[in-house]
Amino acid sequence: MSEVLVLVDHVGGNVTKPTLELLTLAKRMGEPSAVVIGSSDEVSSATEKLTSFGAEKIYAVDDSEIKGYLVAPKAEALQQLVEKTSPAAVLIVSGIEGKEVAGRLAIKIDSGLITDAVDVSAEGETTQSVFAGGYTVNAKVTHGTPIITVKPNSANPEQTAGAGAVEQVSVTVSDAAKKAQIVASEPKKSTGRPELTEAATVVAGGRGTGGDFAPIEGLADSLGAAVGASRAAVDSGWIAHSFQIGQTGKTVSPQLYIAAGISGAIQHRAGMQTSKTIVAVNKDEEAPIFELVDFGVVGDLGSVLPAATDKITER
Ligand code: FAD
Repeated sequence: MSEVLVLVDHVGGNVTKPTLELLTLAKRMGEPSAVVIGSSDEVSSATEKLTSFGAEKIYAVDDSEIKGYLVAPKAEALQQLVEKTSPAAVLIVSGIEGKEVAGRLAIKIDSGLITDAVDVSAEGETTQSVFAGGYTVNAKVTHGTPIITVKPNSANPEQTAGAGAVEQVSVTVSDAAKKAQIVASEPKKSTGRPELTEAATVVAGGRGTGGDFAPIEGLADSLGAAVGASRAAVDSGWIAHSFQIGQTGKTVSPQLYIAAGISGAIQHRAGMQTSKTIVAVNKDEEAPIFELVDFGVVGDLGSVLPAATDKITER
């Protein structure tokens, strides 16, 4: 069975959930091999989780020479691994960095690239949702080693033991790949809430909040959820762009999505319509969001959300 390379997205050796989703998808297509670019300590921290989600091999690429540079060295490292292993496919998490690594890799190995897949079949056929969710496209790479970037929350990570054999890989990175360097990076201040794109529950607020996100945050905290927002709320300066969900924001696909004071414009739907259960709170019973929901509450979010929060907290 051919290997399927998964580029591991990790923070200091903590493997992100979207990477575990990729391992689950890779298992359908062949033998998942995780590629960890990092220090030996980071590889050690990542190994147990990668193995318990099906990684048969773990390629450890020491990043001491390339740490601090932007994405080009990662693409060169992957290129050398692809040449060494001839995998059935390379899977990468869709994100700003992931898509750039994938694009650079595709050029280097002269292969077809598909970005923003929401599903991948055993045969490597991908599903994409395009034009703000108006069309579903099925596509397959027909030239070279398929390189596929997959959106977070596209699969449920399945625990299944792999062999987890760690192999050190030394890669040589050209001077050309070291032309852009990170000069400073600051970790995001933690809110104690889950990362928006990975959260199982999201509570999002829109213009209907009138700028007061306290009821949204209160409900989110009672549910252990992430907070999201519509563009109208972001454009009004009430909340940072990193919280925006939709066509020009983030895509989320949680188990439960609660939209409060959001009308349900097509550009907003594009970022949340694949959520498993959708609940809306809106004072206008004609709001388009109600066409999409599993449960709807017609009412003022300023009273509905605190009442729901109190009930949940009582339990
Ligand atoms: P509105 O459409 O103004 O809706 C507010 C809703 O709140 C109304 O339905 C109202 O009935 C309800 N309401 C008011 N007060 C209360 C209350 N007290 N309690 C309960 N309900 C109340 N939008 C996005 O969200 N994400 C994107 O990524 C995005 N990208 C875009 C890209 C392009 C190119 C364009 C053109 C637009 C984009 N938009 C995006 C904007 C989008 O078209 C809408 O303008 C936006 O989603 C509207 O946000 P909203 O639903 O919060 O506001």
